[in-house]
Amino acid sequence: MVDKEAARTVTGWLRLADRVAGVKPVEGRCDRCGATGYLSQTNKESLCAGCYLDGDAETS
Ligand SMILES: [Zn+2]
Repeated sequence: MVDKEAARTVTGWLRLADRVAGVKPVEGRCDRCGATGYLSQTNKESLCAGCYLDGDAETS
């Protein structure tokens, strides 16, 4: 479970981490929930912060 406030916080972390790593930020539509925003690229999907965390939790 990731509420909107937590997702926004995580998005901030991801954005910062990517900036530090020199990765170009990816903005677009989440492959899982369809939300538009900052995405984390996995090996097969582009996920928003909330789905990215949910996915990690479900697969563990
Ligand atoms: Zn999503």
